[in-house]
Amino acid sequence: NNDFSEAIENDRTHVWHHLSQHKRYETSDPMVVIEGKGMRVWDARGREFLDAVSGGVWTVNVGYGRETIADAVREQLVRLNYFANTAGNVPGAQFAGKLIGKMPGLSRVYLSNSGSEANEKAYKIVRQIAHNKYGGKKHKILYRERDYHGTTITALSSTGQIQRKGQYGPFTPGFVEVPHCLEYRSQYGDCADYGEKAARAIEDVILREGPDTVGAIVLEPITAGGGVITPPEGYWPTVQEICRKYDILLHIDEVVCGVGRTGKWFGYQHYDIQPDIVTMAKGVASGYAAISCTVTTEDVFNEFKSDPADPMSYFRDISTFGGCAAGPAAALENMRIIEDENLLENTTAMGGYLLDRLHMLKERHELIGDVRGKGLFCGVELVKDRASKEPVDESTAQAIVADCMSNGVIIGATNRSFDVYNNTLCLSPALICTKDDLDAIVDAIDNALARVSA
Ligand code: PMP
Repeated sequence: NNDFSEAIENDRTHVWHHLSQHKRYETSDPMVVIEGKGMRVWDARGREFLDAVSGGVWTVNVGYGRETIADAVREQLVRLNYFANTAGNVPGAQFAGKLIGKMPGLSRVYLSNSGSEANEKAYKIVRQIAHNKYGGKKHKILYRERDYHGTTITALSSTGQIQRKGQYGPFTPGFVEVPHCLEYRSQYGDCADYGEKAARAIEDVILREGPDTVGAIVLEPITAGGGVITPPEGYWPTVQEICRKYDILLHIDEVVCGVGRTGKWFGYQHYDIQPDIVTMAKGVASGYAAISCTVTTEDVFNEFKSDPADPMSYFRDISTFGGCAAGPAAALENMRIIEDENLLENTTAMGGYLLDRLHMLKERHELIGDVRGKGLFCGVELVKDRASKEPVDESTAQAIVADCMSNGVIIGATNRSFDVYNNTLCLSPALICTKDDLDAIVDAIDNALARVSA
């Protein structure tokens, strides 16, 4: 049955979508996706697209239509579909062991269903440790301007993007913002030690708040939705030093960067730091199942469960679907694919190629102010004028996305209220991409830029 008109009508009338889809219904044809294979998806009207953003939000890391992941999930569902995390299950245990093998220094994996939930769990861990070790004092959690940590009220409370926070306040207390580290928009003018300065700005906030009140800082290794912000030289070692100096837990949000996206298993592993807590979601099972993880050191695990007032406290943490068997079964097979197909190596090689091609594009298009990225995770920041760096209007980025789409290539942009500047194109193709795929993607952007600036 190839008639999807009823489904499209129901989608238009009854589904509560992200606003972008509702806007498309007002102005143009919406997209109802029905099938995917490798790097490509097809929609209900039979249109074929090359997907440069892995499912719209950097998720389908190993590509669409993976039979072996579907088989692993099916086999597990037939054997045992569900039992609560009050007991163990085999894929959960195998996956945790395999994951920990990629994360030296960390040893405990809490499984849940989304990036927001994984971050909420991390915040609860920090608050419980504040109570257990510091009589509740060290309860504040720092987050960074332009970083995003999820869609729930507390995840939004720790998100540094004003527009995403909308009118959803009042927010959860105890979250304090630190400045962003986008060198292209340096707060200190041109300086050789921007990374050090941006990190010291965190220390200023800690001193202002009082180090004995700050329990943790949550940071994306590379800020994703806030504009693909690669950290400046010298930033991470200083952040780590500051955390150690004031006994502050370092929580890295790997929801986007994790599981191969940047060419290493985790983004933080480029920067030689040792986090206390790592959260991940999206690429953990490449979208074949909903699964997320909060990974900690053994110390954090022990400090969390040693509540002097209530030693049973951590048994409260039951999530009905967290860690239920299909998720880890998919995640395990996802990791096997990345290893057996050498996808980390491919990501590094193809990511380098993509960045080179984008830099060449910058030489030909005045609209491009900055190009940045790591692995298959790149951003192209658009400006009206290179000297003033004034961002283009949101409509310009939108027009480029729409132009690419009408030519069969799906790219992303930090628009639709993702970012205060609304002006960065985002590329995050699946880790299986080839040079031909990347050429097609960059050519589409090249043509779109030419048309939009004509
Ligand atoms: N952290 C980061 C860095 C993210 O990009 C996202 C999702 N875009 C989240 C957390 C939230 O994940 P989820 O949508 O699965 O709740």
